[in-house]
Amino acid sequence: MSASYDYDLVVIGAGSGGVRAARMSASRGAKVAIIESRYLGGTCVNVGCVPKKLFVYASEYAQAFEDSQGYGYRVDNKPNFDWATLRDNKTAEIERLNTVYDGLLSRAGVEIINGHGRFVDNNTVEVNGEKRLTAKNILIATGTWPSKPQIPGVEHSISSNEVFYLNQLPNDAIVVGGGYIAVEFAGIFNGLGVSTHLVYRGEPVLRGFDNEVRDFVSGEMAQAGVDLQYNRNLASIEKLDNDRLKVTYEDGSQAETGLVLFATGRDALVDNLGLESTGVKLDDNGFISVDDHYRTAVPHIRALGDVIGRVPLTPVAIAEGMFISADLFAEQKPQPVDYQQIPTAVFCQPNVATVGLTEEEAAAHFDRVEVYSTQFRAMRNTLSGNPGRTLMKMLVDANSQRVIGLHMVGDDAGEIIQGLAVAMNAGATKADFDRTIGIHPTSAEEFVTMREASRVVGKAV
Ligand code: FAD
Ligand code: NDP
Repeated sequence: MSASYDYDLVVIGAGSGGVRAARMSASRGAKVAIIESRYLGGTCVNVGCVPKKLFVYASEYAQAFEDSQGYGYRVDNKPNFDWATLRDNKTAEIERLNTVYDGLLSRAGVEIINGHGRFVDNNTVEVNGEKRLTAKNILIATGTWPSKPQIPGVEHSISSNEVFYLNQLPNDAIVVGGGYIAVEFAGIFNGLGVSTHLVYRGEPVLRGFDNEVRDFVSGEMAQAGVDLQYNRNLASIEKLDNDRLKVTYEDGSQAETGLVLFATGRDALVDNLGLESTGVKLDDNGFISVDDHYRTAVPHIRALGDVIGRVPLTPVAIAEGMFISADLFAEQKPQPVDYQQIPTAVFCQPNVATVGLTEEEAAAHFDRVEVYSTQFRAMRNTLSGNPGRTLMKMLVDANSQRVIGLHMVGDDAGEIIQGLAVAMNAGATKADFDRTIGIHPTSAEEFVTMREASRVVGKAV
């Protein structure tokens, strides 16, 4: 360690990226402190991926009870669902994970400091306005915070932060937005028996995903019971005497509901971080600007994860944390994070998962793209009578025969696409998929049995 500083590295924010960078750096012998103002594990563990996935599992049981009847089960009484049990069991599991994170950091030799970190100058961070730490390197890993449109009555609505701790589940809810969180929570509410209206300013949901996937998942969500209201937006919210909410839409129409959840994106969490005391610069959208080594305008202050506004996903923040730690403290310099083929899943019902290019992107970049696309009713849904369908789609560059995009909407899509993403990253061709023997009977085997292209698209077509 440099003699003139307290630490080799101070990390502000113990979320997905900060924890990984701190742990790896300490295990390489660096003297590391991590400052956290709320909860160890950050957004993902406390109000993101983990509690969300537990709620998704919960929301799938109602359909499973119904489906079981075609398989011979008698469900004589309608199953009762108790929100408080789910919420409190979830919270207990999150608290267990908080202690796991504490143990991981402590065992690696990272000093955990509870409190709000704020820059005093380019090498000094103050915690809760009291303790001052000096560091040779500082990592900003402060993540993001939900952003809500500033309409009248917005204070009567909630964001994803509050949805995990509701006192009661409403009978009906309006979810505003068409991105990951809106689509996932529309599925969770609907599955838990809440009459759910998804209000999105565009059409269809999940902008940026493959258009066929977007259309397909919209149809499946509607079929499952979500009321999708497209090209609409809220203008105001009013609280009624009976505690219900009256919403007014931009077109002047009105509706009553028990809850409004805004899932309308997230802003960089840089409030009261003291950046004005440093040379760190923000980009036009308020995220921290970094170079390809995650160095801010002050090279020994780095930033990663959601606060840099690149790809706001946990595994990406973790990969960035591993890179920074190795870049600072490893003998061997690390490979850059590959942003090209990041697999991702949306845990709605059914799941959406994807890796590589959408059909629209592929058609814009390649001369000829073979599109293999199939829709079917999964075997599980035959005896159950569940009308849910599955979509699988593969995009192949006709010239090189490399697989350049894989998309799925259906049960366990995330689990299936994760495996196939390895093949795609390794440069698999259509012939590699074709000569792979399927596992029968599965849905996944469709990916190795699609033989006839549905269409050819591209610049030369
Ligand atoms: P965060 O995890 O947000 O951590 C930042 C930490 O910094 C927080 O703990 C915060 O309290 C702390 N902090 C902030 N300012 C200060 C300060 N000044 N001093 C001290 N501490 C501070 N991603 C997936 O890959 N899969 C999913 O299924 C998924 N589901 C999600 C569901 C929801 C509802 C949400 C909101 C997000 C979800 N994400 C998911 C995204 C994922 O949570 C983020 O990409 C990830 O948490 C980013 O990690 P991070 O380290 O950049 O920041
Ligand atoms: P997204 O960026 O995914 O979606 C935001 C949505 O809100 C978009 O549909 C956007 O519309 C809409 N919107 C934005 N501003 C307004 C406004 N003023 N009025 C009405 N609608 C508005 O953000 P999320 O908050 O859903 O999630 C944040 C990030 O967290 C995601 O991008 C994802 O990376 C990550 N995440 C990952 C998950 C996973 O991996 N399964 C799950 C949950 C979150 P438009 O499309 O028109 O811009």
